[in-house]
Amino acid sequence: MHFETRCVHTGVDKDGTYLSATTPIYPTSTFRWDDLKTNRGFDYTRSGNPTRRALEENLAELEGGIDCRATCTGMSAITATMHMFQPGDHIIAGHDIYGGTYRLFDSLFRGMGIEFSFVKMGDPENIRKAAKPNTKCVWIETPSNPLLNIVDIAAVCNVAQEIGAITIADNTFLSPYLQRPFEFGVDVIVHSTTKYLNGHSDVVGGCVITRKKEHAERIGYVVNALGLACSPFDAWLVLRGVKTLGPRMEAHQRGAQALAEFLAGHSAVQKVYYPGLKTHPQHALAKTQQRGFGAMLSFDLEGGRPKVESVLAKLKLFQLAESLGGVESLIEYPDTMSHASMTEPARREAGITDKTLRVSVGIEHAEDLIADFAQALS
Ligand SMILES: *Cc1c(COP(=O)(O)O)cnc(C)c1O
Repeated sequence: MHFETRCVHTGVDKDGTYLSATTPIYPTSTFRWDDLKTNRGFDYTRSGNPTRRALEENLAELEGGIDCRATCTGMSAITATMHMFQPGDHIIAGHDIYGGTYRLFDSLFRGMGIEFSFVKMGDPENIRKAAKPNTKCVWIETPSNPLLNIVDIAAVCNVAQEIGAITIADNTFLSPYLQRPFEFGVDVIVHSTTKYLNGHSDVVGGCVITRKKEHAERIGYVVNALGLACSPFDAWLVLRGVKTLGPRMEAHQRGAQALAEFLAGHSAVQKVYYPGLKTHPQHALAKTQQRGFGAMLSFDLEGGRPKVESVLAKLKLFQLAESLGGVESLIEYPDTMSHASMTEPARREAGITDKTLRVSVGIEHAEDLIADFAQALS
């Protein structure tokens, strides 16, 4: 069956009693046993819950994995994957990964004895240069945040395999509708379901998807042991969101492409970062591994911070807010918002300037989005 059909149907049918068309929410902490030897597949909601299971079956199938664990945030999904490793293990990650992931790695897990190297993933040879005998994992995110650099997933997986490491990909920015990292050799996928998978800015959540039995067992054990699973209510919201993932992503990227082209042609804009523009240095690479270019874009304004403030004050449709992936368009200023936890030299080194703005394009009509920018930039 096609992707859109699987979004609507996979895992959903959980009510054998009344045959409800959608998955019920099972707000229960515990489940009755028939006798000492028998239960109906669930015993305690931290370990498993039918509503959460429906979401997990759905997401595992959409990414092409064998198992999924839905967690209470994207960060808890990433925390679960770090428990696949031991003190003394070495992990190589991209230098421009999500700020919260960088903080988790660099402060918490480094303090617990895991070693990290942060490299420019644009050239997979940098992985080989950073590799050590104890390298166990390569961590990638593509496109990157906020400047939309593309990582060659297949090339990274090849190098990782050669040095005896697994590859973990954070696929939050594109969702499985636009990019399926398992097809290029990735071993484990994480998502912040807060973003496109839920898609309506009304829940925080995450998931870990595996395609090998030993990884599935380890992640299942860790999520239960650490108590990272999401609530049945949150699982139900994300499951409802996923049903419209395909049509939403199409609408999102239709608006993003139109807005990126408009901004690229505007005299108040210095530079636009969007892989769907032919001028993007990795436009061709993006085409080989993505089914579309997504709906995140960034741009540099002429005039620096004062111009940034005047444009933000004039925009009406774009809410000044962090996060992304919801149906409503958002705009944010990485320098003091999403990337404030990086030092200023680190931000400049990564290419984030004091005139860079990041946009999460919603599903509003492209003409309205362009009209809003036209008046704000004038
Ligand atoms: C938001 C985000 C996260 C963290 O997810 P939360 O749901 O906020 O915990 C991780 N990775 C990426 C790429 C994100 O955008």
